[in-house]
Parts: sequence; C-alpha cells; structure tokens
Amino acid sequence: MPKPVPDDEESMSECRKFCGPCPSFKPNQLNEFEPHALFCSRGKTEKPMSEVKNNGCSCFGCGLFPKYELEGGFFCMHGTGGKK
Ligand code: SF4
Ligand code: SF4
Repeated sequence: MPKPVPDDEESMSECRKFCGPCPSFKPNQLNEFEPHALFCSRGKTEKPMSEVKNNGCSCFGCGLFPKYELEGGFFCMHGTGGKK
C-alpha cells in the first residue's frame, strides 16, 4: 500500500528533479494550475483532463516512488487513488 507523501520542501526538491523535466509537465503548463507539482501528495492537476496530453511520466525514477511505495505514476492525471 502506498504511504502518504509529506507535502514539504524535501519532497518538493525531489519532485522538481522529475516532474520538472517530465514531457507531460512543461508542455501542459501544469505549473500554472493548482497544485502546481507534488501530485503524489497533493492530488491531480486542476487543469481539465481534456486539455492534458499524456506524454509519459517520470515519477518512476523519483526517489519518493520507492520510498513511499507509490503505485501507478501519472499522479498529475490520475491523482493518488492508486493504479490506473
Ligand atoms: S513521485 Fe512524481 S509527483 Fe511525486 S514527487 Fe516524484 S516526480 Fe513528483
Ligand atoms: S506526475 Fe508523472 S506524468 Fe505528471 S508531471 Fe509528474 S512525472 Fe510527469
């Protein structure tokens, strides 16, 4: 079972390294919509899904992924509700 990811600066600094350069992040301007990043903790983007293009997910390389036993990835699109 995934564990809760803390919404803190340590998590954000890790997220920046993976969501930041992710091909689904900048091209979709996810930084301009709440919650901006750290989707594995904060939930999915508020940008309408019909306007989000899935270009892949870099979460699988993120250190928080194994640390908190995360599953599924694509948290900006699917939220934290588990696999999809
Ligand atoms: S698992 Fe994904 S959303 Fe969560 S901190 Fe890492 S890169 Fe960001
Ligand atoms: S949650 Fe995954 S798909 Fe979304 S921007 Fe971060 S790395 Fe990319």
